[in-house]
Amino acid sequence: MKKLIIITILLGASLVTFQACKKDSRIKVEKNHRKQTGSSANDLLSNDQYKSLVVEIQYMTGFRPTDEAMTRLTNFLQERLNKSNGISLSFTEIGAQGKSSYSFDDIKKIEENNRSEFTAKKQIAAYFLFLDGEFSGNSGSSKVLGAAYYNTSMVIFQKTIINNSGGLSQPSRDKLETTVINHEFGHILGLVNLGTSMQSFHQDTENGAHCDNEDCLMNWIVETDGVIGSLFGSPIPSLDQNCIKDLQANGGK
Ligand SMILES: [Zn+2]
Ligand SMILES: [Zn+2]
Repeated sequence: MKKLIIITILLGASLVTFQACKKDSRIKVEKNHRKQTGSSANDLLSNDQYKSLVVEIQYMTGFRPTDEAMTRLTNFLQERLNKSNGISLSFTEIGAQGKSSYSFDDIKKIEENNRSEFTAKKQIAAYFLFLDGEFSGNSGSSKVLGAAYYNTSMVIFQKTIINNSGGLSQPSRDKLETTVINHEFGHILGLVNLGTSMQSFHQDTENGAHCDNEDCLMNWIVETDGVIGSLFGSPIPSLDQNCIKDLQANGGK
């Protein structure tokens, strides 16, 4: 009986410590991880302030991205970012919520409750959330596949990706994932004209922070299910010269 009480008390004590730690880190990070998309572009691209990058991949149970897409994301980042101490991915699983759709408020709340990697000292952190549902703002037949919503935060509507890949006349799942994941990362790198200035004018202003080249990774269509038809039977889009030049001028490779 005595033993049991001690264990209970200890458990209680460690819970309190854990919560306190969590609170402390939250207070610290609120200052730097809820800024405008594109505002950390130079910190992500250059080696000046941050020598390494960790990308936290947080996925709901059953919605983990493919290993192929993760390898391609790492390659894409290594090709464009100056990080002398390397780029790494960290994977964490969270419980699926079973909601059919999520608003940006829902998404931000999930991040606040679950994100575990934050920018500290010489390492910058980025965050991807893979959801078990669709975007609540989808209208009609057009569906959003992903979004960047803070300076280092991105969401992937993984259920929509899974439903629209791997089938007949659909791109393979890893191909669609790679395209959307790399596109969203392009936004937090400041593309197009979103914290990384254009070296020559190539913004599709009608469609926001996107590239006017329809073959470029940063074309607006990539973020929507309109990309599905064009991806089938063609290679994964890459950044065009205009986008690459912008990144290079802002500390990238
Ligand atoms: Zn976009
Ligand atoms: Zn471009």
